[in-house]
Amino acid sequence: MTDDLDELRQQVRDLADRWQAAGRFRPVCDAWLRGHDIEFSKEMARHGWIGITWPREYGGGGRSNLARLVVTEELLRAGAPVAAHWIADRQIGPAILRYGTPQLRREFLPRIAAADVTFCLGMSETEAGSDLAAVRTTAARDGSGWRITGAKVWTSHAHRSSHAYVLARTGGGERRHDGLTEFVVDLAAPGVTVRPIIDLQGEHHFNEMIFDDVPVPDRWVIGEVGQGWRQVTEQLSFERGGLERVMSTYPLLQALARSVADGAEPAAVEAIGELAARLATLRRIAWEIAADLDAGAAPVRRAALLKHLGTTFEREVTETARRVTGARPDPTGDGLPALLAQGILAAPGFSIRGGTTEVLLTLIARGEADLVR
Ligand SMILES: Cc1cc2nc3c(=O)[nH]c(=O)nc-3n(C[C@H](O)[C@H](O)[C@H](O)COP(=O)(O)OP(=O)(O)OC[C@H]3O[C@@H](n4cnc5c(N)ncnc54)[C@H](O)[C@@H]3O)c2cc1C
Repeated sequence: MTDDLDELRQQVRDLADRWQAAGRFRPVCDAWLRGHDIEFSKEMARHGWIGITWPREYGGGGRSNLARLVVTEELLRAGAPVAAHWIADRQIGPAILRYGTPQLRREFLPRIAAADVTFCLGMSETEAGSDLAAVRTTAARDGSGWRITGAKVWTSHAHRSSHAYVLARTGGGERRHDGLTEFVVDLAAPGVTVRPIIDLQGEHHFNEMIFDDVPVPDRWVIGEVGQGWRQVTEQLSFERGGLERVMSTYPLLQALARSVADGAEPAAVEAIGELAARLATLRRIAWEIAADLDAGAAPVRRAALLKHLGTTFEREVTETARRVTGARPDPTGDGLPALLAQGILAAPGFSIRGGTTEVLLTLIARGEADLVR
């Protein structure tokens, strides 16, 4: 690691510590999905930590994906409320940068980097989750623009986002993967309805988004019309290759490590050592993915590998905490019992969101030859 990255790491760590000490957030498990605070995102923006890898001409920081990894790792360690900007920073901004026209980049990237525009991810539908090529939301040409009609489901934070990324069908083709197109949609546009779905924790982050003939200007198409499938599969390396697939339960791991006093059962110490050793390996894989992204590659299979191993790890943190401490999970409590409850309730989603384990394992098996290098 260069000195530059060490300095960046310390800056992010100091800021998270200050906000926490001032009582502006409490570390929680799964904060990258559940910790939504636009003021915290604005603070990140003021430091240039949203869009840190994007060119300066588009409001970015012009730094590497390794720098982004350092920022995200420190925020995840802190259990900080980053959900407002996470999706746009991780995936929509990079997709616009990679495939969007210069006009689309100029229109959106500086505003994302300033946390003035926030995005949700409109991929899944009731009949199209793992099988994304089955999307039924359509976009039809209408004069100089498009009209979108359909419904998306499980859309995290649609009710708090200004815009949505929407994958829609714009035509047929020989293969069912043909004819898909990616759009930016203004959630304040006429014809958009956002309905809440309450999750297992009793929280509202999921939504259903309904589009009834929603107008979208042509300049808001991301990339090529009909080429959405190729683009979306490349995007998956951004979606799956980060440390949020490893560190959703990190605040619990930290509380667990602190709870093991001198003289603790050797088996408990060993179990925590085992988790720490695995975390070191997973960080290494995330580091390699970031380096691949810096080299312009789309390491889709390596990202699938990280997501599968990482989400298994996240779940085992909760299992180990429960076994080793014997603590009773308490969603309304404090400290380890509260973190344990959060980890247990969030865990079922770890291996579903962003691609289920079965789908990832298929992808990994097919690409095994590429991984061994
Ligand atoms: C916490 C959370 C947040 C989410 N946020 C968003 C969001 O913001 N935006 C968004 O668009 N979506 C979001 N999702 C939805 C998520 O992407 C989908 O749930 C996921 O892709 C799985 O799709 P599905 O639920 O339709 O399940 P299905 O695809 O119906 O799968 C059901 C079961 O069948 C298995 N299966 C399916 N196909 C295969 C196959 N080919 N081979 C073997 N097994 C298979 C799956 O592994 C799974 O066990 C979120 C989900 C969760 C849990």
